[in-house]
Parts: sequence; structure tokens; C-alpha cells
Amino acid sequence: MSDLLDEASRRARRYLAALDARAVAPSPQALAALARFDGLLPEQTSSPMEVLAELDEFGSPATMASAGGRFFGFVIGGSLPVTVAASWLASAWDQNGGLVVTSPINARLEKVALDWVKGLFHLPADSAGGFVTSATAANFCALAAARHALLERAGWDVEAQGLFGAPPITVVVGEEVHASVQKALSMAGFGRERVVRVPCDVQGRMRLEEFPAVTERTIVCVQAGNVNTGAFDPVAGICRRAREQGAWVHVDGAFGLWAAAAPARAHLAGGTEEADSWATDAHKWLNVPYDSGLVFTRDAGALRAAMAVGGAYLAQAEDRIPYQYTPDFSRRARGIEVWAALRQLGRAGLADLIERTCRFAERFAQGLAQSGHRILNDVVLNQVLVSFGSAERTREVIARVQSDGTCWCGGTLWQGHTAMRISVSSWATTEADVDRSLAAILRAAEG
Ligand SMILES: *Cc1c(COP(=O)(O)O)cnc(C)c1O
Repeated sequence: MSDLLDEASRRARRYLAALDARAVAPSPQALAALARFDGLLPEQTSSPMEVLAELDEFGSPATMASAGGRFFGFVIGGSLPVTVAASWLASAWDQNGGLVVTSPINARLEKVALDWVKGLFHLPADSAGGFVTSATAANFCALAAARHALLERAGWDVEAQGLFGAPPITVVVGEEVHASVQKALSMAGFGRERVVRVPCDVQGRMRLEEFPAVTERTIVCVQAGNVNTGAFDPVAGICRRAREQGAWVHVDGAFGLWAAAAPARAHLAGGTEEADSWATDAHKWLNVPYDSGLVFTRDAGALRAAMAVGGAYLAQAEDRIPYQYTPDFSRRARGIEVWAALRQLGRAGLADLIERTCRFAERFAQGLAQSGHRILNDVVLNQVLVSFGSAERTREVIARVQSDGTCWCGGTLWQGHTAMRISVSSWATTEADVDRSLAAILRAAEG
């Protein structure tokens, strides 16, 4: 074991050291060489060293260099060094994070990290939280909790009786709702199309003046940080209306909720603390390794009831038992990396990470605009949308940027316009990375 871990560390360090000099996307040769893995299950046992060597030799070149500073696709962070190291140590521990008895350390660090995140997001101290795989899973868990709470008030036990024959619930979403909320709605039995859609403005924010009447059997899904523009729904106004009627407001804040941690951006997330449930990611802007999402509910009992095994939630243990707040029994001890990131960054470091990446997004937008390219969004956060003219022309530039390899940006469709999306989410991005990438993008747009 010891030699093997040394070897893994040596190979990982070599990989990371070489990142700056390689193209961000893997080469066509590296992708072709993946055929190497297509064999049958070996009959014979081989040495672990040999397996590691094969993985590194043929696997490392076929990675997207998202651990480096010039990957700006989707909304994907890197992994802070302390979180990679903590994750290695935690893997060696092999802890089952589901129970206190199987991992006292994870149970304790989950509790600590949840309290810290609640503090950062200004959530009620007694709200419940769970460590899940993603914001998609967090959206699902929050909707399951909402389903429990609204139907319990109507005298219906949804965990026991299911949704068939239950009093109907209306779900309200914005026109620019994230696909993961739609997926969560379909998984939770609400139906992805059985929703009321609120028209949005040019930034993708719900228009308050078009907001429908809600009742005590309405779930409103708002967005804190649109995946394209970074814009926030008018959450404060929506929560005010919802609260008057007893509706449930859920916030999809996969990355946007972290704005609350940076003093100069915190106003964007203002009002989110008035909602009933929240979903966020740790593997995006907090820069911890995959997979890591967080769900919170103001009504702690609703999340416990929705995630309960049998009637077990009725007997609430004194200690917080991690599996009572998530879909899984057994799972990775995810709390450790979230704790490590926050413990190392502190308030100041986290604020700097958020503010710095937002400033880099502004730097991209200014550089592109100065060269005559059209920025499609108000750059309020870490997301930039740029058009290079026609849809065809924009797609051509994106393809050139990707094959040049200096940086990686993806394409998107924003309210009918084809655009290139730049998301600055990684701790590893430096000002030099931004300038080098900007130059490469401008070169691609000239050719
Ligand atoms: C990324 C994202 C999600 C989905 O998060 P995953 O962790 O990929 O499941 C949901 N909502 C928004 C706004 C996002 O940006």
C-alpha cells in the first residue's frame, strides 16, 4: 500500500505540473488511445503498480484539464489543494459516511461544515442539511421535503400513500429554470411539464409583475445564479408573496448562493435566506472534488421525513445521523472535503475566491468588448456570454478556441442567440491565465 500511494502521489504531481504546458482539451491521439481500455475482463490477477501505470499512461492524456487554470466550460471549479489532500487521506480511511458509528469523524465534520455554510448563506441555525452528490440531487431532496410538508398540511402522508390520489400541488418555475430542476421535478413525481412558467427578462430573471397567484399548495422554484448569465430571480419579492399564502419557495443556488460569501456580491443573494429550501454545489465554486452538493431545509423535520427509512424519522436520535438527510444509506464521507475547504480558506479566503473569479469574468468581458465583440449579459457574477456575430460564425470561433487548446469554453443558446460561455469558477485561474486565454480567443475570432 505504501509504495503504491507514493507512486500515485508521484504520478499525480507530475500530471499537475505538466498541466500548464498542455492543451486544455485532450488531443485526438489521446482519445484514440482510449481503445486500449476496451479489452475483456482479465483472467489473471496483475500487480496494482501495473494498473496504476496503465491508468496514468493512457488515462491522464485523455482528461480534460479542468484542474488547471484555463478551463472555463459549463460552471466547473477545480479542486483546492487542501481538498485533494484531505480527500486522499479520507479515501485511505475508507469511512462509510452514512452513520455516526461507522464514521464519527465524518459525522462531526458534517455538522461543523453545515453550520459554517448556514452562517455564510444566512440560513436559520436550526435548518436541516444533507451532503449529496450534486445540486441536481439537492434539488430533488428539497422538492421531496416540500412535497412532504405541503401534503402533510393537507392531511396526506405522501411517503406512505404516494402521489396517486393526493391533493394536487402546483409548481411554479421561471422560463429560464435549470434543466436539473426539471429533472428533479420529473424524478419527484411532479412532472417536468406540469408546471407554471413565469416569463423572464433579458437576464433570465423572473418578471415579478407576471408572477402568478400562489396557494398553500404551491412550490415555487427560484434561481440564484442563472447558469448562462449569473443573474438572480427577485427572490425577496417572491418570498414575500409566497409567505403570505403559505407556499414553499425553493432556491436552486448551485453556484450563485456562494455570492453571499463575498461582501461586494452578497447583495445579489439578498432575500434567498427567506426561502424554505436551498440547493447548492460544493464541487463548483467552493472547489472541492466531485461529487459534492448540499441541500438545506428550513423545516428540518420535512427533510428527515422525506428521506426517512420506514417510520424511523419519528424516533429522532439525539445525534444528527447523516443518512437521515440524504437518499443514500452508505456513502462517501463528503463532509470532510467541504470542511477542509472552509477550514483552510476561512471567511477571507472564500470571499477572495468568489470576488477574484468575478473580477476575472469582468476582465474577459472588457477585453472582448474592447475588441468589438458583443457581450450578451450583464456580467454581475462569474459568467460571460459573448457573440461573435452570426450563430454559424460564433460556433466556428468556439471550435477554433477549443482546438487551439490555450483555454476551453463551451457554447450555449441564450434566448435564441448562439453564444460562447465563459465561466470563471476555479481557484487555480490567475490573471495571467485570463490574459493568455483572452489573447487566444481574440486570435480565434480574427481568423
Ligand atoms: C450546475 C447547476 C445545476 C446542476 O448541478 P450539478 O451539480 O451538475 O447536478 C443546477 N442548477 C444550476 C443553476 C447550475 O448551475
